[in-house]
Amino acid sequence: MNETFVRLLCPECRKTWERKPGDLPAHTEAFACDGCGTERRTAEFTRTDRDLDVLKQFQ
Ligand SMILES: [Zn+2]
Repeated sequence: MNETFVRLLCPECRKTWERKPGDLPAHTEAFACDGCGTERRTAEFTRTDRDLDVLKQFQ
């Protein structure tokens, strides 16, 4: 089994972590940072364009 993860980076506190794409809101919806609670669109937390693509692909 090869599980896919989206790599996340908080634009405020620079925390980095990973989530399964199915556990995240759609890229256009609000998402709160695990570390500092900042709310942004999920797309703004994806670390690279590839992570954004993975998020879109699995939703
Ligand atoms: Zn944060």
